[in-house]
Amino acid sequence: MKYIGAHVSTSNGVQNAPVNAHLIGAEAFALFTRNPSRWKSKPITDAAAEAFKAECEKYGFTPDRILPHDSYLINLGSPEPEKLAMSREAFLDELKRCEQLGLTMLNFHPGSHLNQIDPDLCLALIADSINRALESTTGVTAVIENTAGQGSNLGHDFAQIAAIIDRVEDKSRVGVCIDTCHTLAAGYDLSTPEGYDATWRDFERIIGWKYLKGMHINDSKKGAGSRVDRHESIGGGALGDSFFKMLMADPRFDNIPLILETPNEEIWADEIARLKQWASQS
Ligand SMILES: [Zn+2]
Ligand SMILES: [Zn+2]
Repeated sequence: MKYIGAHVSTSNGVQNAPVNAHLIGAEAFALFTRNPSRWKSKPITDAAAEAFKAECEKYGFTPDRILPHDSYLINLGSPEPEKLAMSREAFLDELKRCEQLGLTMLNFHPGSHLNQIDPDLCLALIADSINRALESTTGVTAVIENTAGQGSNLGHDFAQIAAIIDRVEDKSRVGVCIDTCHTLAAGYDLSTPEGYDATWRDFERIIGWKYLKGMHINDSKKGAGSRVDRHESIGGGALGDSFFKMLMADPRFDNIPLILETPNEEIWADEIARLKQWASQS
């Protein structure tokens, strides 16, 4: 079964995310558990955490359908020691918030070398950051998102993600989230049947299906290999309806959260309905 949802608002508290997801017909959701553009965030109160859990139960959102996303400021491979320390502290707080909410996954962008250090050294720093955070927490899997490769962001090449996983000590608590827009922009042309098959063969060979914990299902404003991260509504971009029909008919993507991060949230309910329709035809 396809668990389709969106990255929903937590305005007025995390406990509002489940109902926001329910109201658009979602069967999965993503959320920020703290302000994604600030370093400091107030703790989640016990009352809010309990309300969040109760709402998840009420609407049937089990932890395997919820994919929290970390702050955009965090760079686990930062070449700047002060920024690296701040990033590691914030990432640990993100994982602890997931623990507090009863969640089992945290989705994050691997990191950027900022043209100051060798990409391989940056990948090693990222893995070290993950190892430190996993050592200090339990029960939450660190889910690496592939990137479009914009600027000096790493993780656009499946081999870079494999290199990080290779250095993570507890392989049972590391996973991958594939963003379809980022994948196309990074140069994996998912828009044709041949490119679709070739991309997933590469994914299987280089990373492995057991690490796939979720997906971000976005169309892309820019074409294959553009290295530009611009999400587009389903069917309106370079991937097109034909790609999403292939994806919805593909059982390899069953039973993981499939999250919309498309730009027009007014049509999320409609996008979810269309995707569900394609999934049901398969
Ligand atoms: Zn992301
Ligand atoms: Zn994404």
